[in-house]
Amino acid sequence: MKTLFSRAKTVIPGGVNSPVRSFKAVSGEPFFTESAKGAYLITEDGRNLVDYVGTWGPAIHGHNCKEIRDALFDALGKGTSFGTPSPPEVTIAEKIVSIVPSIEKVRMCNSGTEATMSAIRLARGYTGRDKIIKFAGCYHGHGDSLLVQAGSGALTLGKPDSAGVPESFAEQTVVLPFNDFAVIDKVFSERGEEIAGLIVEPYPANCGLMLPLPGYLEHLRKVTARHQTILIFDEVMTGFRVALGGVQEREGVMPDLTTLGKIIGGGLPVGALGGKSEIMDFLAPDGPVYQAGTLSGNPIAMVAGLTSIEKLEKENPYHFLKEKTDQLKNGILAITKEKGIALQVPAVPSMLCLYFTGETVTTFEKVMSSSLETFSPVFHALLEEGIYWPPSPYETAFMSTVHDSDLISKTLEAFKKAFKKL
Ligand code: PLP
Repeated sequence: MKTLFSRAKTVIPGGVNSPVRSFKAVSGEPFFTESAKGAYLITEDGRNLVDYVGTWGPAIHGHNCKEIRDALFDALGKGTSFGTPSPPEVTIAEKIVSIVPSIEKVRMCNSGTEATMSAIRLARGYTGRDKIIKFAGCYHGHGDSLLVQAGSGALTLGKPDSAGVPESFAEQTVVLPFNDFAVIDKVFSERGEEIAGLIVEPYPANCGLMLPLPGYLEHLRKVTARHQTILIFDEVMTGFRVALGGVQEREGVMPDLTTLGKIIGGGLPVGALGGKSEIMDFLAPDGPVYQAGTLSGNPIAMVAGLTSIEKLEKENPYHFLKEKTDQLKNGILAITKEKGIALQVPAVPSMLCLYFTGETVTTFEKVMSSSLETFSPVFHALLEEGIYWPPSPYETAFMSTVHDSDLISKTLEAFKKAFKKL
């Protein structure tokens, strides 16, 4: 009998609807998930796996969260899409504005990619300039001007520059090394007046987890303000995850625009861009920058997202998430130290990654020089032990509010066995 994956490969390019799911970086075939509950994925062939991917970020409450499910059943009874404004759109916008420090107005869309693509267009429309800056290894979705030296799946597959992006588009994107203060100063002093926007993952988490040096985000804020360049924090991954108000709340650095996604959809397809009213009002219908969507602000998706955000607000789990992430990090480091394995585990609340190197990783070059060969056997050994870690050394692992001490102990036992096989 044909496996699901071989059937999939016949009718879906590469057998998957998003490349990193293919397990290409670690070789082997992906498993198929039948259902999910709490911290577990239940595979189509009946395995229970402790999940550290969390649907790539949204599942901060664990899978199949009761409050979100109940709210969805309720909303479904009213209809799935109206094509007119609906009350939950206003409520979620008010909620986001009240929580994310720099956001005064917010526009909902359907994915993180849409959010970043629209933010770039808005920065260009607002400033009347064309060029944008991004950082090597940062991933901002698959919009044309952002698929240049990108992270995530693009990097995993060794294709940080996608085919199909015209050179003339890519030329509008200036790619710089993250955490390099001098290069920012140089580029802005030479061409600051041409640069519409600077987009950054404030905690770059699509090339592992490459954290900013002290003062770096503040420096980006200062230099962009001096040159009237729009500073865009891409918090699609970090928003509502590392703190309720994202990295900007945690670090106290305010961008002009913020992109969101993942958690704000509660597991449904949602993205958003928000920021200062003066800039946001440049969007259609009031302003000249066109941005739209048939299903944008979909009532079902808004209810799922709102429930997810309200639960975070009520439970304030960030101290718990930090404690548990540190517990896992320290446990992994204790095992590798005993075995003499060189490993760095950068971590922020609910996110962590494995860099097999003896050096602290603060630059993209160092990301690329960490040992990738070691990652794949560790990934497979963990999977054999029932732990699903992200299938790429460039993806961060996600924890949720249901990853408790027992699960962490179970995970550390699996790590012990995995490292023994190296
Ligand atoms: N921005 C960041 C920081 C992301 O991590 C991602 C996806 O992983 C995106 C944008 C794109 O979001 P989506 O996959 O919803 O289009």
